[in-house]
Amino acid sequence: MYWLSRQRLPRKAGMAASLGTAVHASVEDLLNLDISGRPDAESGWLPKEGERLLKLRWDEEKAIFDATPRRPKWKEDKWNEAIRNQRGAVMMLLDHVGVQSLEQEQITAALWRRIQKLTIAVEGELKTADGRLMGRLDLLMGDVNDAGELVGWLVADLKTGRIPEGKLKTDVNRQLRMYRDILLANNPNAPTVRTEGWYTQNASKWAAQGENVLEAAYAAWQETVPTPLPMKPTIGDASCGGFCDWKAWCPHWWNWRNDNGTLHREDFSDAVVLLQDYDANTGSAVLELCEPADVNGRAMPTGNRQSARFSDRGKEALEEVLATGHQGPIYLGSIMTQSRAWKIGHWCDVLPWNPLPDGVEYHRKQ
Ligand code: SF4
Repeated sequence: MYWLSRQRLPRKAGMAASLGTAVHASVEDLLNLDISGRPDAESGWLPKEGERLLKLRWDEEKAIFDATPRRPKWKEDKWNEAIRNQRGAVMMLLDHVGVQSLEQEQITAALWRRIQKLTIAVEGELKTADGRLMGRLDLLMGDVNDAGELVGWLVADLKTGRIPEGKLKTDVNRQLRMYRDILLANNPNAPTVRTEGWYTQNASKWAAQGENVLEAAYAAWQETVPTPLPMKPTIGDASCGGFCDWKAWCPHWWNWRNDNGTLHREDFSDAVVLLQDYDANTGSAVLELCEPADVNGRAMPTGNRQSARFSDRGKEALEEVLATGHQGPIYLGSIMTQSRAWKIGHWCDVLPWNPLPDGVEYHRKQ
C-alpha cells in the first residue's frame, strides 16, 4: 500500500479531507483577517466573517474535488459539520487566551486582536535543514503568563477527524512531537515548546508529550525511501479487506481472495471484469467476471456473466474510462453485490485494471 502510494498513481479525493482543508484554511483566514477598521467593542461580526471565509474555502475545495478524476460524491450536506468544526477551532482559540463559554456573537474586535497578537504563525512549513523531514504547521501560538509575558510556544495541530478515546493515538502523538522537535532543531533559542492536537468536533485539546523523536524519524525516513522493486505486500483482512486505495494496481488481494474462496462473496466486493454490454441511458451492464491467471494478476475471463447497474458517480467514472479508449479488464471497488444486479454507485472505484507485477523495477519519473 505504501509503495504503491509513492508511484504517482492517481489519488482519490475524499470528502473528509476536503472538509478538513476548508475548515483549516478558514480558521487561518480568520486569524489573518484585517480587522483594524473595527472599533474595540464591536461584536457580532465574527460568525458572519467566519461563514463568509469558510464558504470561499468550501467552494475552492469543491472545485479541486470535482476536478479530481478519482472521486466519490461531494456531500453538500456536510456544510453544517464544517461550520461546527470552525466554531470548535474558534472556541479553542478563545480558551487559549483564558476565555471560556462565550457566544461567538459576543467576540469583540479587541478580543480577536488579542488572539491575533498571540498568533506567531499560521500555516507554515516545517522543514529540517537537510529537507528530509517536513510537516505542515497549522498554528504556532505564544504562551503567556498572567502578567502577559511570553513564556513559551504552543504548536497546535487542528484535527477535524475523530476525537481520541482516552489518549492521543500513537501515530498522532508522534506526528505532533515531530513538529515540536523540528521547530526546536531550527530555533535553538526557542522558549519552551509544547504541542497539542486541537479536535475541532468537540473543541478538546490533547497534549502530546514524550522524548525527542527526530532520530527515530530519520531512521524511518531511510526506511521509507521507495525502492525500485515493490515491497513485500502485507496481504490480509486488515489491509486488503479494508480501505486500500491502490487495489487497481495490486495483484495480491485478487489472488488472495481467489485462493481463499472469498472472491465476489461478500457485500461491498471488489472485482475485475470485462464489460460485455452497456446501456449508457440506464447504466445497465452485463459484466463478465474474471479470475487471476497468474501471480501478476493477468485477467482470465471465466465465462460467468453478471448483470450490473452503474449509477451516479460510478456511471460517470465508467464512461470516463471508456472515453479513454480502454477495452481491457476493469477494476470495480466496493460493489454492492447482494441484489440480482450488482450496484456500482458513487462510493465505488471504477478504474482500468493495471496491476504492477512484483520483481520488476519501477523508476518514478521526477
Ligand atoms: S490490496 Fe492489499 S496487498 Fe495490495 S496494496 Fe492494498 S493492502 Fe497491500
